[in-house]
Amino acid sequence: MKIFQIERNSNCPCESGRKFKKCCQTRVEDAVRCISQVVGADFTAEGLEVIETLGFLCGLQAEGGHMPAPEFLGAMLSKAWEEEERVRDIRDEGALQGLSLAFQVLLEKAQLRHIRIPLWQFDSGDDAEIYEVDDEVVKILNGPEGRFFIVEAADSIGRSLLYDDYTEDELKTLLIALGWLVIDDTRSIFLYSVLHKTRSELVAAGEEADQILESHGDEDQYEVYEEMHLLFRKYPVYEQMLSDGISKDINPAIRAVAQGELPINVPLYAVFEGTYAVISKLTDSMSTAFSQEAGEKLPPLEETLFAGGEYHYFFPEITRALDEAVLESQDNEFRSSLNSLLTFLVYLKDTRQINILKFLYLRCICIHLSEFPRIIPDADLEFSSLRDYCNQELIERYADYLESQDMNEEAAHVRDVFISLGEQARGQADLHEQEIVNLARAVLSDMQESNSPQ
Ligand SMILES: [Zn+2]
Repeated sequence: MKIFQIERNSNCPCESGRKFKKCCQTRVEDAVRCISQVVGADFTAEGLEVIETLGFLCGLQAEGGHMPAPEFLGAMLSKAWEEEERVRDIRDEGALQGLSLAFQVLLEKAQLRHIRIPLWQFDSGDDAEIYEVDDEVVKILNGPEGRFFIVEAADSIGRSLLYDDYTEDELKTLLIALGWLVIDDTRSIFLYSVLHKTRSELVAAGEEADQILESHGDEDQYEVYEEMHLLFRKYPVYEQMLSDGISKDINPAIRAVAQGELPINVPLYAVFEGTYAVISKLTDSMSTAFSQEAGEKLPPLEETLFAGGEYHYFFPEITRALDEAVLESQDNEFRSSLNSLLTFLVYLKDTRQINILKFLYLRCICIHLSEFPRIIPDADLEFSSLRDYCNQELIERYADYLESQDMNEEAAHVRDVFISLGEQARGQADLHEQEIVNLARAVLSDMQESNSPQ
């Protein structure tokens, strides 16, 4: 199969923004010619497809990396073919299996870790054991639906040639595998190799994840996060599987939060900077944004949550609040959805996770801005209106109270935020108290209607 079909006038796949004919085409053609010459005149039409694919991968310009020269790749390709022919001629299944296993080891190279097959997406939902579907998966990927996978796999091999280090033996194995991928008759060897690798990694990753969770108690959660992140880097396919599975499961929990059916709240210090940001910056946008949805009038809260570092205070509190909700829930299905949401927030890093975190953050801020009085009974403290959040004496008493609870870091955070943003917030709260409260209520009611942060 011809893997790369680029017209002269198409954009160059090296992403330079120029047309192929004005960018890499000459280099690709030179590389193909050079590899063909080294290999010699004696190759089949299928052999030419492999040479063209390889020439393409090494002819594209790239930043950094160390792409082997076409002459060298040509010489390695000759050796790869000799070896493969020898194995095929003697019809030695064991030797073929040996080559497949050698390729499976190579699949652990950094740039090849993404060549995996998302087995779970082929699961029909029957009780069929997952290994029984192998033949079906190979059939599908060998058909038109598999084209995307095949091109991606070839691209990954190109990136691996560029960035990963190879011994000559490994390079020979990689070129044998590239041949399997390119040639229609042998592609299933490539696919079965990747399937086996994928399955063994999912099993290993599951076991390692269990070990991580078992070896730590509840108190060293941070170490668990760290180790899980390392695990995901080692097995990207495992993270992808969890992420795919969890995305669907979390919807009931998110809906319940948005509807206010599941009251989720965090202490003031966990959203203090965001609360000030909403109070202070609101009036800038109010004059220009009356036609927009309430939520869009708000300042971008990524700044305070991530860059400003309030994440450090917010994240433990929101996970604690969700943890408590899990314990209190009587409904098994709902509890499992909450658990998925927690896992999603704790272990995975993608844009949807960040959106959900922002949604929860905004929601907690708006609750602090719209429901009064807010009483902290142990501290004998009451915030009876928005302006009280900007009252130096009350904030100082709140910080003292946090210190008395051994929450020195949290107390320092409250004081720092008050020093840097308190005065500006007080000015705005004096002028626009009712508008800010109304806006916070409008945001909460918008959430109730749209009930999803995607
Ligand atoms: Zn180019």
